[in-house]
Order: sequence, then C-alpha cells, then structure tokens
Amino acid sequence: MRIVVLAGGIGGARFLLGVRAYAREVGAEVTAVVNVGDDLWLHGLKICPDLDSVMYTLGGGADPERGWGRVGESWTVKEELAAYGAEPTWFGLGDKDIATHLVRSTMLNGGYPLSAVTEALSTRWQPGVRLLPATDDRLETHAVVGDGDEGQRAIHFQEWWVRYRADIPTHRFVFVGAETAQPAPGVREAIGAADLVLIAPSNPVVSIAPVLAVPGMREAVTDGPAPVVGVSPIIGGAPVRGMADRCLAVLGVECSAAGVGRLYGPRAAGGLLDGWLVAEEDADAVVPEVTVRAMPLRMTDEAATAAMVRAAVELT
Ligand code: GDP
Ligand code: CA
Repeated sequence: MRIVVLAGGIGGARFLLGVRAYAREVGAEVTAVVNVGDDLWLHGLKICPDLDSVMYTLGGGADPERGWGRVGESWTVKEELAAYGAEPTWFGLGDKDIATHLVRSTMLNGGYPLSAVTEALSTRWQPGVRLLPATDDRLETHAVVGDGDEGQRAIHFQEWWVRYRADIPTHRFVFVGAETAQPAPGVREAIGAADLVLIAPSNPVVSIAPVLAVPGMREAVTDGPAPVVGVSPIIGGAPVRGMADRCLAVLGVECSAAGVGRLYGPRAAGGLLDGWLVAEEDADAVVPEVTVRAMPLRMTDEAATAAMVRAAVELT
C-alpha cells in the first residue's frame, strides 16, 4: 500500500507519526508532501518551518512543548543578533536549529534543489517516510493587510503569523510564485501511484492551500486514482492549536469541521474529498457528496493517531 499525505508543520508532523505507525503495522510506504509557503530567508539562512517540524518530529528531535524547533535548544545566536539590533527580532532562531539552516543554505547556494537538500538532511533524521517539499521553486505565502491612509500592503506569512499573531486587518492571502512553480520531483509520481491520499489536519488556508496552489497539484489529487480522505483540524468549532480560525475568517469560511470540509469540497464535484474525518463533537457535520465519519481526533499519542489513519483507510 502507498500513502501520500499533504501536510503542514505541527499538525502535519503529529499526524505523520500516526501514519508512520500505521504504515509499519501494515507494511505501507509513506510520502509526505509538505508546505513550503512559510519558508523564508533570514540572516542569509533558508528556513523551512514546516519541513523542519516534520523532520524533527519524525526524527525524535522536536521540542514537544513548543511544537517547533529542537528539543534542548539554546538561544545564544538569537541573543547576539539582538545585541546588534539585527532585524527581525520577532523570529526565534535556536542554535541547534541554525545548524540545520546552515547546511540547507550552503547546499541551496551550491545549486542543489530543496528536494535534494531535504533528502540529505533526512539522512540524519531518518524520518521513516519520504519527505518531499511541494515544490523546489519559490512559493511564498503573503498576507495582504492594512487599511486607511497607509493602504494595503503584502507581508510575508511569518511576519503576519509570528509578529502580528494574525491579529491585523487582513484581506487575502497570496501565494507568490505559485503561477510558475512546479511540483518537486517525485511529487506527481507519488500521487499518481498512491492507493490513498490523506489531507493531514493541518491549517487548510496557509498549510494545505499553498501545497495545492502549485500548478498541476490539485489536478494530480482530484484526477488521480487514489481516494482522498481529509482529517479535520477543527474540533468543536475551534482549532486544536494555532490560529486557523483567523485564517478561515479571512476567506469568510465558517470555523467548523463542516466549514473546512465544504471548503475542500467533494471530489465528485471538482473538490478534493471522498471522505472527511471529523471529531465526535462534530458528528452532525454534513458535507454534501462526501462520506463523513466521526471519531476521536485528538492526536494525544501515536496509537490514537494511528487509529485515525486506520479509520481513514476504512472509509475508502
Ligand atoms: P503549522 O504549519 O505548524 O501551523 O501546522 P499545521 O498547519 O500542519 O497544523 C496546524 C493545525 O493542526 C491547527 O489548525 C490545529 O487545529 C491542528 N491540530 C493540532 N493538533 C491537533 C489534534 O490533536 N487533532 C486535530 N484534529 N487537529 C490538530
Ligand atoms: Ca506552517
């Protein structure tokens, strides 16, 4: 069995722990196609928050409390940068994490594509699943913000999320570079050869949408041979963590399991989903033309998460 998972950072990473556990049990092969819309260059370093969250989590090196970055992290470089007044001061870079960014940036500057760099970094972390960036090309999520005299301006997703905590008048999101980006090598092939495509309980607006914004990606999923099952990141009308509610509000989409399910839409009518897993609290959620099943969706441990994956398989 071959499983492809579309994933963002923390929610994607935790979900992939369960997918990997399930895959080990049944002897399946897993490919994760990970969002790169959050990526940015800072201090000459290329930072890929979602790829790193997934790689560190699956490799056993993530900080479980913070949810991003390395466990046992120190912050010497960050403090030294602050002493120089080096901007931006709102983005946290841990010392251990910086080693990853140094290796990545050196390879990228040497001409290797991000997919090859990710494979090289994975040699250390042995994530147990194939990690692919959605694209090797530039694709950056920007938020169009601002009102009044200053007018509207576009800021990088990280500035919107980390600096403004998504709490600033926002009109829309733009995926800069999406028009000309191409799926990373292996992505289309993996989706075409999959027996099941899973949409992780990741942020639909700023984690899954940028993956699908790569030309050809949405079609690969909707027209592919594999059934597609999504897992709701919204439980009882609220995100489990993070600010997906604010992202959905920008799109005018109701923050509910049904709202996100309808945003993804039924594959039968040009959307993405054949099946949609919702939490027990949301058992009454209706998404027309999509098979909805309710079950516990809190990823408290690997076994609970693997049970979600088993349910997704059984839904198809
Ligand atoms: P990010 O890129 O680090 O923001 O992470 P993702 O986009 O991959 O995932 C963020 C989403 O994960 C949020 O919208 C959360 O609601 C969701 N999430 C986190 N923990 C859980 C959980 O235990 N169960 C479910 N169903 N969703 C979760
Ligand atoms: Ca992210």
